[in-house]
Amino acid sequence: MARVSVVRVKNDNVEAAVREAIEMAGDFDIGSGEKILIKPNLCCDKPSGSGVVTNMSVVAAVVKVVREMGAKPLVGDIPIVGFDPQHVYDALGVKEIVEKAGGEFIDLSKEERIVIQIPNARKLRRVKIVKTTFEVDGIISVPVLKTHFFTGVTLSIKNLKGLTDQDQRTRIHVLGLNTPIVDLLQVLRNQIRYVIIDGTYVARQIKPSGPYYGPTEPKDITKLDLIIAGRDPVAVDAVGAQIMGFNPKDIAMLREAAERGLGEIENIEIVGEMPGAVGKFETTLLGKIMRFLNKFWTSRIFNPLVHPLAKKLFGPEIVAYRQVMKEMETGKKGEVVLTGECDGCGICVRSCKVGNIKLVNNKPVIGDKCIKCFICVEACPKGALSIVGL
Ligand code: SF4
Ligand code: SF4
Repeated sequence: MARVSVVRVKNDNVEAAVREAIEMAGDFDIGSGEKILIKPNLCCDKPSGSGVVTNMSVVAAVVKVVREMGAKPLVGDIPIVGFDPQHVYDALGVKEIVEKAGGEFIDLSKEERIVIQIPNARKLRRVKIVKTTFEVDGIISVPVLKTHFFTGVTLSIKNLKGLTDQDQRTRIHVLGLNTPIVDLLQVLRNQIRYVIIDGTYVARQIKPSGPYYGPTEPKDITKLDLIIAGRDPVAVDAVGAQIMGFNPKDIAMLREAAERGLGEIENIEIVGEMPGAVGKFETTLLGKIMRFLNKFWTSRIFNPLVHPLAKKLFGPEIVAYRQVMKEMETGKKGEVVLTGECDGCGICVRSCKVGNIKLVNNKPVIGDKCIKCFICVEACPKGALSIVGL
C-alpha cells in the first residue's frame, strides 16, 4: 500500500510543513553522497506563489532536507516552449534561492541531451531528454498543485516533461499527452525517489486551465497552505487530484499509469489532514471544450479544425500537427545509456572490452570511447541499458 501525507502549512512555515510531510509519509530513502535532482515546475515567468510555478519556499525547503541527508541537491527544469529559460530563471531568482539553501542550480536548458529508446512504449518510443536525468542517483519531483485543460491535472508525473528537450513538448502533445507522458514515467520510474507537491497557493478559476494561462493577480490566488508528499508518484498525484475535486480514476494519465503497474491510485493510506475537494478548481466552459477537442488533437482529419481554433484562443505558441511532425528529431545513434533498474552487478563493466564503462556509486557511467559493439546492452541481466537513438 502506498502512503501519502497531506500536511497543513502553519504560521507560513513552509519548511516545517515540508519536513513534517516527509516524516509522515516516510520512505525518504536518500543516501549520503548521492546526487539528487530536485525537479520543480519552472514552466514560465509567473511569480513564486502564483500557483502556476512551484513556490520557491518549497524548493528551498527540499534542498535543505536533501542536503541534511548528506546528499548533493541539484535543482533544474526547462520551461515550456516559447519561454526563454534564462528569463524564467532570472524572474524567479531560483539560482540565488537554491544556492542560499545549500544546493546547486543547473541550467538544464544548456545541459547535454540524449535520445533514448523507451522499451515497451505505447506511443513515445524515443525521446530527447537531458542527460543529467540519468546521471543523477535519483529525482525528486516537486510540482505545483494545478489543473490542466487537456489532462485534468498537472502534477508530479506531468512535471517530468520538463526534463525533455523543448522541441519534444509539442511532439508529446500531438501523440496525445496522456499515454506518452506515462511512457516517460515508465522509463524514469526507477529514478524517481520522491514526490512533494506544492499546494501552498493555487491559481483559482484558471480560464482555461493550462500551464501558463492562469490569472496571477492576488485576488485570483487562493492560499491553500498544503504540502502533499510520498514515495509513489502515481499515488501522490492521485491524492493531489482528489484534493482538487477529481476522482483519480477519471484522470486518464493516472488510470493508465496504475494499469501499467507504475503506482497506485486506489490502495493508498493517506496520513495527516485530508481536506475535502476544495471546490476552487472550477472547470470553465472553455476548459471543458478544450478537453473535448483534445480527443482529436492527434487526428490528421480534425487537426486543421482544432489547430486554428486553439491558435486563435491561445496564441501562436500552439503548433500545427504537420509542423510538429517535421520537427521530430533524429537521434544521434551509437550511444549507450542506463534507462532501467540497475543492481550494480558490474557485468556491463566486464563485458566492455575497451574499458568504456565504470561503476560509480554502483551505477554504470559510460565513457566516450564506445566502439558501438552493444555487448553491454546484450549482457546486462536486468535489461537496464538502451541504445541511444536506435
Ligand atoms: S557498446 Fe561496446 S564499446 Fe560501447 S560501452 Fe557498450 S560494451 Fe563498451
Ligand atoms: S550489467 Fe546492468 S545491472 Fe549490471 S551494473 Fe551494468 S547496467 Fe547495472
